[in-house]
Amino acid sequence: MFELDGFFDGEHVVENAAIVVDGGEIAWAGERKALPKDSGEIAKPAGRFAVPGLINCHAHLTLDGEANFAAEVRQTDGLAMVKAFKNARASLYAGVTTVRDLGANGTMVIELGRAIERGVVEGPRIVAAGRGVTTTGGHGAEVGRVADGPDEVRKAVREQVRSGARVIKIFSTGGVLGEGAPPEVSQFTPEETAAAVAEAHNAGLRITTHAHGSGGMRVAAEAGIDSVEHATLLDERTVRLLKERDVAIIPTFAAIHSLLEHANVLDPVVIERTRAVADRHREGVRMAHRAGVRIAAGTDSGTPFNLHERFAVELELLTECGLSAEQALAAATSGSARVVGLEKAGHIGGGCWADLVFVDGDPIADVAVLLSPKTVYVRGAPVV
Ligand SMILES: [Zn+2]
Repeated sequence: MFELDGFFDGEHVVENAAIVVDGGEIAWAGERKALPKDSGEIAKPAGRFAVPGLINCHAHLTLDGEANFAAEVRQTDGLAMVKAFKNARASLYAGVTTVRDLGANGTMVIELGRAIERGVVEGPRIVAAGRGVTTTGGHGAEVGRVADGPDEVRKAVREQVRSGARVIKIFSTGGVLGEGAPPEVSQFTPEETAAAVAEAHNAGLRITTHAHGSGGMRVAAEAGIDSVEHATLLDERTVRLLKERDVAIIPTFAAIHSLLEHANVLDPVVIERTRAVADRHREGVRMAHRAGVRIAAGTDSGTPFNLHERFAVELELLTECGLSAEQALAAATSGSARVVGLEKAGHIGGGCWADLVFVDGDPIADVAVLLSPKTVYVRGAPVV
């Protein structure tokens, strides 16, 4: 039993609280005065405020965030695996107890997730996509599975399912980094997108897409996509469609933020692409938030200077788009749990997983306290 100043249950703050953990789950959580008798020994953790384990909806664990993205994505599989292990642990120590990996060169992150589940190594829960599926000449082709035409797209998705992917990732538009098409260009046709969505859903998996331009976002939303990554160039029409179809967005502000913070050492072409979209990105997400579009938290960690352990930066950036601190924290916990499809994560309550982050101070007053958690629990056990 943990005695606390308070906790955030995924949506609201409960003050003068207690949490009872039993095995890997939370047996009871609430106000201390309502605590059931015989709730076990009292522990006073370092960090008197608890939040649910954070969920990064968009990471690339095989990447360290090196300045030269084009070079890093061409690394060997062996090196990629070592980095994935290191970055998974770095995420966990930073309070990120669930990581959705949206694309690696092969199955290494899927394998890592399995090894963690079997207790071979310590780590967060991992929901990995395997290879992202993209078009010939498209963004993400360096480590993606290139597929053209509905039949080949179906096959590409089936390959990820066979490899053990727990989410499917496609690329609906060009991008900022890499050598493929630029951000506003649409890639997959409605028919190709529909084939990908049908195959993913048929396998019981969520499907998410990389999309900067509005055209690509609309193609994906019309085809039944579950969420949109980046959502950089939103307009009113697209926001309406996303709301109508209940498509969540993961803005990944940390990626752009990290690029612009290090503009002096990066490729001028990339910086120019980035500057051109940064303000419109914020305005678009602000509009989406006002319209009631669901927003979840992901950083695209692994892109240049975008470190896995700096996840909480995304919450600060979300508050710059009209989300309150409470809403930003909900986006990174209960909102992300819904997007990832793990409803036992992201909440503090009876029957939820005992994935907990203990911090000093009130994260609603200052989300920055989440950058340095005092203790992290995953599956009911403290992280060493
Ligand atoms: Zn990404």
